[in-house]
Amino acid sequence: MSPERSVTPTKITAWLDCAHFLTLTHQVEDGTREAPAGGMGAFARLLADKGLQHEAACLAEYEGQGKRVLHVPSRHPRESFQAWVVRVGSAFDGEWDVLYQMPLAHDGIRGIADFLVRTVDDDGRGSWEPVDAKLARAQAKPGHVLQLCFYAEAIEAVTGTRPAEMHLWLGSGAVETLAVHDFSAYWRRLRRQLATVLDDPADQVDTTAVPCVHCGFCTFADVCDAQWRAEDSLVYVAGLRAPEWETLLAADVVTLPSSRSAPPTSTAWARSGSSAWAPRPPCSSEPGSGRAPTRPTC
Ligand code: SF4
Repeated sequence: MSPERSVTPTKITAWLDCAHFLTLTHQVEDGTREAPAGGMGAFARLLADKGLQHEAACLAEYEGQGKRVLHVPSRHPRESFQAWVVRVGSAFDGEWDVLYQMPLAHDGIRGIADFLVRTVDDDGRGSWEPVDAKLARAQAKPGHVLQLCFYAEAIEAVTGTRPAEMHLWLGSGAVETLAVHDFSAYWRRLRRQLATVLDDPADQVDTTAVPCVHCGFCTFADVCDAQWRAEDSLVYVAGLRAPEWETLLAADVVTLPSSRSAPPTSTAWARSGSSAWAPRPPCSSEPGSGRAPTRPTC
């Protein structure tokens, strides 16, 4: 893995949705591609703002309960992430109940945990458990669980004690508690897959842009959109579903012009006589494969 390539839980979560995102990100980090200028889209910014509001509400709840909350000091300008981790690491030994915005770095991955909460078991042994504030109103998503798994692993590396549980403070106000050992094997397997992708030389990583749930939040949305437009991609066929996409790809029909000469009975879309072209909504792609999916799955 290139030492310049920082891996964050957020990046891992994006990789689950889209392997191509990681390829483009690495090209930016390697200097072979300019950083996308567009930044965060309006919808992504709205969600981010809502997320910050939810996190602030969770913080207020802890403080309202009378817990001793440390607002972890911010990273200094030009301070490396690792130096920041070392500087604030002694917070684990303080008399705090909650550490807010704690940076963690372990085994090539780094991230900032929303909350680490001190717990004491029946035998009086203390430990720290991660709590992440998420806008989802019900049920943890795979990416959320992976983030928590990383925090739990990093906590164990720093304190020597593995958290028994990890928690998601959902947008509904409910707290979903997960047992760390239930997900350890899942986390290790994903970690290995990710390491394989990151260790691949750039010219051997063969990913392509395929619409997925991450596109709506992706900083590379303009890049991929421009590529799809330039290629006359089937992405913009209104109403095209995965089975029809699969049929067309199998017939080597990958662009709008080639689809016009496709046998009219080859797809349900073609049978319908539809010729309308419009951006199709994003759908799920194969997660965590480390390679681009060859078709949409919705
Ligand atoms: S815009 Fe979509 S396809 Fe392109 S990198 Fe982002 S998530 Fe992947």
